[in-house]
Amino acid sequence: MAAGPLAEGRLVKCLVTSNPTSPTPTASLNTLNADLHCHSVVSDGTLTPEALAQRAAANGVQLWALTDHDEIGGQARAQQAALAHGMQYLTGVEISVTFAGKTVHIVGLGFDAQDPRMQAGLRATRGGRGERAKEMSEGLAKVGIKGAYEGALKYVGNPELISRTHFARYLVEAGVCQDTSEVFRKYLTENKPGFVPHRWASLKDAVTWITECQGVAVIAHPGRYGFSPNEEFALFSEFKAHGGQATEVVTGSHSPAEYVKYADTALEFGLAASRGSDFHSPEESRIDLGQLPPLPSTLTPVWALLADRIQ
Ligand code: AMP
Ligand code: MN
Ligand code: MN
Ligand code: MN
Repeated sequence: MAAGPLAEGRLVKCLVTSNPTSPTPTASLNTLNADLHCHSVVSDGTLTPEALAQRAAANGVQLWALTDHDEIGGQARAQQAALAHGMQYLTGVEISVTFAGKTVHIVGLGFDAQDPRMQAGLRATRGGRGERAKEMSEGLAKVGIKGAYEGALKYVGNPELISRTHFARYLVEAGVCQDTSEVFRKYLTENKPGFVPHRWASLKDAVTWITECQGVAVIAHPGRYGFSPNEEFALFSEFKAHGGQATEVVTGSHSPAEYVKYADTALEFGLAASRGSDFHSPEESRIDLGQLPPLPSTLTPVWALLADRIQ
């Protein structure tokens, strides 16, 4: 699990540069301000990759990854902006997966963004979003909300990535709900009028695309899925069997009690740990870039596995 000497050297350089008074920089690996999960206009965020990079740097982020849903079109811009602001960068993506009848998200970090296998896999995953959005709009029309598809499209930066978040923004604009959380609760989750079940990639496919492109696969916000203990055990076991190496522990989607719970799960399954805000928008996100607590010191940070992939 430990990074090689050369790779560790890079991270140490990063730590020393940012914290010249630290006497034992390697001991601080866990306290590196890494934010390895957020979204831009390339998927369902409201800021450009450049504006996100500026915000992350202003908040003290040292190692950053942009992880748009099912799309890596923002990677070159994000990397360039990160380096311009003095941050180190890892390539990132958040892949939608169907597991045990639910949508699970798998973050990929440090993969080769030029690899055609990743690009083809993501293209196939994005495929059904347009049709699904039209069906969501039909469901909403049945309860009297007209024109939701056209309304959601106004918020979309990338038409292939039309998502529930864009519908939520339109329904707030239309005065149907006060905020996007209320829209999800009343209209966009299971058994609600705008919810359309969708078959995403398989867990095996997502983990395979990431690992065969030299990246590390990470289970995103495991506390969010509402799985039973048995289902969760299956998710972690199968993920690991497919070659997954890390789980998010400290994320904007977890409560402090869940940081503790998933720190234990990471240790139990021998997984490294990741940290990321899942920032989408200054107006909507509870946690800003770079503002989460550090990873518990008992865990191996995912960036220790990725030191030679850091740009
Ligand atoms: P989709 O990929 O179209 O199913 O949309 C999923 C996105 O909706 C997630 O990435 C979140 O950004 C957002 N989302 C899901 N559940 C909620 C919720 N309860 N409140 C606010 N946003 C949510
Ligand atoms: Mn999202
Ligand atoms: Mn997610
Ligand atoms: Mn996310």
